[in-house]
Amino acid sequence: MPTATDETPPTKSTSAPLPGASIDYDKFLDCVHCGLCTAACPTYLETGNENDSPRGRIYLMRAVTDGRLALTDTVSRHLDLCLDCRSCETACPSGVQYGRLIEPFRVDMRRIAQAKSGNAGPGWFEKWILYGLFPYPRRLRWALAPARLMQWLRLDRLAESLGLLNLLPEKLRRMQRLLPRLRSRGVELPDFLPAIGEKRARVALFTGCVADAMFPHVNRATARVLQLNGCDVVIPPAQVCCGAIHYHSGAGEEALALARQNATTFDPASVDAIIINVAGCGSMLKDYAHVAEELRPQDHTVNEQLASFAAKVQDVAEFLMKLGPRPPKHAYPLKATYHDACHLAHAQRIREQPRGLLQLVQGLELVPLAESDICCGAAGSYNLMEPEMADRLGERKRRNIEATGADAVICGNAGCTLQIAAELRRQGRDIPVLHPVEVLAAAYGE
Ligand code: SF4
Ligand code: SF4
Repeated sequence: MPTATDETPPTKSTSAPLPGASIDYDKFLDCVHCGLCTAACPTYLETGNENDSPRGRIYLMRAVTDGRLALTDTVSRHLDLCLDCRSCETACPSGVQYGRLIEPFRVDMRRIAQAKSGNAGPGWFEKWILYGLFPYPRRLRWALAPARLMQWLRLDRLAESLGLLNLLPEKLRRMQRLLPRLRSRGVELPDFLPAIGEKRARVALFTGCVADAMFPHVNRATARVLQLNGCDVVIPPAQVCCGAIHYHSGAGEEALALARQNATTFDPASVDAIIINVAGCGSMLKDYAHVAEELRPQDHTVNEQLASFAAKVQDVAEFLMKLGPRPPKHAYPLKATYHDACHLAHAQRIREQPRGLLQLVQGLELVPLAESDICCGAAGSYNLMEPEMADRLGERKRRNIEATGADAVICGNAGCTLQIAAELRRQGRDIPVLHPVEVLAAAYGE
């Protein structure tokens, strides 16, 4: 059991609720402390500290919620180190909904931290980069234009070899390290693309923000694969960031505002599904109803609006396997391995569908990856906010990938792609990281 870090009794306040007060208390009681989740927890695997395990963190959150333990810096540290990868949820035989505990708890932690700092607001990185840049694809594209030019002129490598990048603040240095080779965006996707062949469905495509700026070709491949499978594809131009960046860093109200805008923009009743190709965003979109319940428990209009949106969200692999994919005609000879993104495998329980799609591709050999569903350390903005643990997990993932002898890695999440590709590059390994729809589109002859 946890050593409970600092069993310091909290100072009771009559005005502010304790952190965790918004959580349905029964969710804490679901945990019977069996410890079967610990071996699935990446941070526990790395530190061996019970306070960095799911069981330990549930214990800490419950003790703080009960008022038996103060939310000290040490307690916060153990909770901040959690990747919110939800691996513990799939390992837990008692059905503990760990995400429903840590996510609202973090919203409370942020509220309390802000109150302590005299409502000073977020730091420069959160304000200008995390909340001010990442959620806005157009701003992000402008911000990335100099980086793309530097890559094109090979000045990025020169700057690195001269040590000039060390002059950047650490978080910007890490962002630079994560940058993929930025391709030209090509032609922008229109608002509507018609089905090819017999029409089988009408879907809307969620294009995302960071993923769209870094990997626009994945959205193009997704739209094309959907068209080739007989889908009319609607791409609402007024869609916004899913809000995961905000929600997972404790900015609940901002996340809710984005959720409401997406629910209004997409008109879920007019489509058979809302398709997403990024695991982290997909998990957030599917969770909109829960977010509304936590933050607006009395507002039934908001809850219903977000619930009807969330009910239509499907990962592209999940949707295609349900629809029945048209078999691709071209071979794609490649020895590859598949990494299970946490927010696909654990949060959405989608493991077989991407593998099922890839099995349709002639010539593709999929070799098993050890610890394929252990987090690579990306976890949204975690690799920027918690660099040490992110690097340890990135190295662990890279060693497992190298052991497979694969020539490529396939995964369905932009954050994992950035993290794994950066780690492979850092070690001089020329192993591309691909999205399943890129492989499928190629096998369709695109
Ligand atoms: S979260 Fe589940 S697996 Fe982990 S200790 Fe609690 S009951 Fe056991
Ligand atoms: S969400 Fe991931 S990192 Fe956090 S406690 Fe669960 S398994 Fe560990």
